[in-house]
Amino acid sequence: MTARILDGRAMGAQIKQELRDDVARFARAYSTVPGLVIVRVGNDSASAVYSKAILRVADEVGLRVHMEQLASRTTPDELRSALIQLNSDVTLQGIIVQMPLPAHLSQKMVIDTINAQKDIDGISPRSAGNLFLGLPSFLPATAAAVIEILERASVPLDGKRTIVISRSNVVGKPLAMMLLQKNATVTVCHSRTANLSYYTRQADVLVAAAGRARMITADMVRPGATVIDVGINATPEGGIVGDIDFEAVKEVAGALTPTPGGVGPLTNILLLKQCMQAAWRQAQDQSRTPQHISHS
Ligand code: NAP
Repeated sequence: MTARILDGRAMGAQIKQELRDDVARFARAYSTVPGLVIVRVGNDSASAVYSKAILRVADEVGLRVHMEQLASRTTPDELRSALIQLNSDVTLQGIIVQMPLPAHLSQKMVIDTINAQKDIDGISPRSAGNLFLGLPSFLPATAAAVIEILERASVPLDGKRTIVISRSNVVGKPLAMMLLQKNATVTVCHSRTANLSYYTRQADVLVAAAGRARMITADMVRPGATVIDVGINATPEGGIVGDIDFEAVKEVAGALTPTPGGVGPLTNILLLKQCMQAAWRQAQDQSRTPQHISHS
């Protein structure tokens, strides 16, 4: 059996079209285009790549976006003031602060300062708390991308045994909560899990987000399972591989995401989808009188 390949690029193209339509609907209703800002402090090279990708996708879907580049020597007070100013800027519906920050700046200060209404990255304790309580919430984009793939591929989750390899704040924990809301039976595994393959072999849906190149081999996968690869690992040859041994696992799994071309392409797109959700919510909260607010 060869697995159905769940193509993140094709799904991404479809969601981008939906987003373009949503931006146009918003512009018709409120005579303005929603905007977001990416705050970057210092010169981390990985965050430069992520920022560029967000700028490109935002441009493609017609959102206003700009980069606020701050110097590495920015003090905590200066960063806090900059965020407070962005919080009160009514032309901005979303704020993203690129991590990692320089060592002298605290991530906690950032997540405590960003207005929860503009926290489209879902990093604030309020967003995490809402997710935990099953209330409407901004979601960490990678976890949201996994759910989006499963839903668009019509993978059943209700009552299904789902294994998530990760307990990180950005992937494993939020994803476990989202899967619970979909009525999956969820087991979270991590680096201290004994006998990992005992769990993975039971999974109807297996999500690997450990950041360990090709750690999931074919013998660890139940035949017919849906396997989602979140990991992104650089190879010594300069390539990228996931946490799944793709070539071997595709002979066993029922459905499988590739890396690259699976979860990755959807992450930034879902971030922007949440920017649109923020825009609609903020506009409706401000009780402005639109010409029409059809948002279906
Ligand atoms: P992280 O914070 O390091 O979390 C990794 C998680 O995997 C931890 O819970 C860790 O367990 C667990 N783990 C590590 N080695 C393991 C092992 N051998 N067996 C079982 N569990 C293990 O990393 P992250 O930021 O969540 O990112 C994880 C991966 O996803 C990375 O490859 C990253 O590049 C990728 N990623 C991809 C996207 C995307 O768009 N596709 C976005 C974000 C991240 P402990 O908690 O016990 O340490």
